[in-house]
Amino acid sequence: MKKLKTKLTHRLLTVAMVSVIITAFAVAIAGWFTFSTQVNSDIKEIGQVIATNYNQDYGLSLLDEYNTEEYRITVIDDNGNIIYESNKSLEKDSMENHLNRPEIQDALNHGAGSSQRISSTLGSVTHYYAIRCNDGNVIRISKEVDSILNSFIEIIPVIIFIILLVMIICVLIASRSTKRIVEPIEKMTEDINNIAYEELVPFATTIEKQQNQIKKQMNKVQLEKDKVSALIANMNEGFLLLDMDKNILTSNESAYMLLNSTSSSIIGKNIIEISRNFDFINCINEAISGKSSTIKFTHNNNSFQVIASPVFSNGKQQGVICLIMNTTEKDKTEKMRREFTANVSHELKTPLTSISGFAEMIENGMVQNDEDIKRFAGKIHKEAGRLISLIIDIIDLSQLDEPQKNLEKQFVNLEELVKECFESLQNSANKRNVTLNYAGDYAKILCNRSMIYEVIYNLCDNAIRYNKPDGEVNVNVINNKDNIEITVSDTGIGIPAKHQNRIFERFYRVDKSHSKETGGTGLGLAIVKHIVEQHQGSITLESEVNVGTTIKIQLLK
Ligand code: ADP
Repeated sequence: MKKLKTKLTHRLLTVAMVSVIITAFAVAIAGWFTFSTQVNSDIKEIGQVIATNYNQDYGLSLLDEYNTEEYRITVIDDNGNIIYESNKSLEKDSMENHLNRPEIQDALNHGAGSSQRISSTLGSVTHYYAIRCNDGNVIRISKEVDSILNSFIEIIPVIIFIILLVMIICVLIASRSTKRIVEPIEKMTEDINNIAYEELVPFATTIEKQQNQIKKQMNKVQLEKDKVSALIANMNEGFLLLDMDKNILTSNESAYMLLNSTSSSIIGKNIIEISRNFDFINCINEAISGKSSTIKFTHNNNSFQVIASPVFSNGKQQGVICLIMNTTEKDKTEKMRREFTANVSHELKTPLTSISGFAEMIENGMVQNDEDIKRFAGKIHKEAGRLISLIIDIIDLSQLDEPQKNLEKQFVNLEELVKECFESLQNSANKRNVTLNYAGDYAKILCNRSMIYEVIYNLCDNAIRYNKPDGEVNVNVINNKDNIEITVSDTGIGIPAKHQNRIFERFYRVDKSHSKETGGTGLGLAIVKHIVEQHQGSITLESEVNVGTTIKIQLLK
């Protein structure tokens, strides 16, 4: 790119040089013409003086007096012969006839004449003035001067000197001028509104418009960047962006935690420095080679799924995007669902097989008397009842599995609710000779009534079914400042410590036959746990074999 200063200096120099040359030539031409005119008038004046004197009979002898090197005097007779020549180096007799010379012709015909001729040397011009004397001879004064070309050649050194001088002056002026011109423009770079010259207004307006546009675009880009950053930062999944050398360009907090990194920052580090997991590194290598890849691996009792995909830009792979997901919970839930489905099928199959077996026996006439038919019908009824309880519990659980956003809630008097449960369970308690006791504070709680009823019913039902004859079930309600505690304790068989962690699992029973015998489905405590969780409460268990079990529920007020 050309510099303004250089360009300006060049222009100024060119203009100055052209001006100097034109001026020099103009002056030279004008000077030459003035000089020529002067020479013409000089020789005319001299010619007239000499002719006047010559006419007063001074004759040719007078001419030597005027002899000078400045000009030449020649006298020509009316035949064109030279009769006098002041330049003694010229042989007048050998000189050619001058009759045809224009100035001589004019003098002979009109009394006087003048002309100019370029000399044979070309370097000079001779000016002639001829005047006819009274005796008919013609006196001619001539003067040789430099030709216009010679004049030019003579002034060339002067012109060169002037050009050099002008060049120096131009360089100085150009540097000062450009500095002065450019300075305000340079200041515009700091503030575009500080317009240096009127001519720059459109330029400044365009720049300002572009600046505003760029600002808008930048804001937009920043906004998008912030959105993406916020998205990545808040992702539960670990996010990694790697370059082709497997160096980490971007990551989020989740990736940092999932990779269990001990370093303070993982940005800029190579993935090998962060993880030594063979499967994980292999998955990334696969993506580096241009193929999307996914793997599952376990580490520290946690399961992870990694998805690595190549990132392309302008048709060229630039790196790899990697998502790391902790699938421990998901895998657990999936396993539970699978187990649940298998358990449900099994649990449903058992009573149905019994029902089908008893019905088949009746059908084949294997059950003869009325007594037996009644007994078998009773068994079928019992199994069908078990089936119904099972189905009801399964439906309950599947409904509880769905997260209930707007749980229908009302204020419930807990004493009333517990007593209602006692009423429903009184028969069962009587059968086992178990006493049901209630004690506690007055407490009203905002909850889903039928759900909390089911919780207390299931806990009391268990406390009766797993009790000993003549045992007790005690329900206690404590109205704390922040929460309400409902405790259901029994004096029953208790739960061995190794089972205590698992009894809230679906279909988990300590003693399967006891549970079935007493009409249990293995789902009661799972339902209780779900309902308590949906009320943001907590449940704890204390139990000692052959002493009894206490289950405590805390519900927020
Ligand atoms: P079930 O229908 O079999 O009673 P639950 O889910 O209600 O199923 O209970 C799971 C298991 O926990 C029961 O089978 C039983 O072994 C044990 N259990 C529950 N409550 C008590 C209790 N109060 N005393 C002793 N064992 C209990």
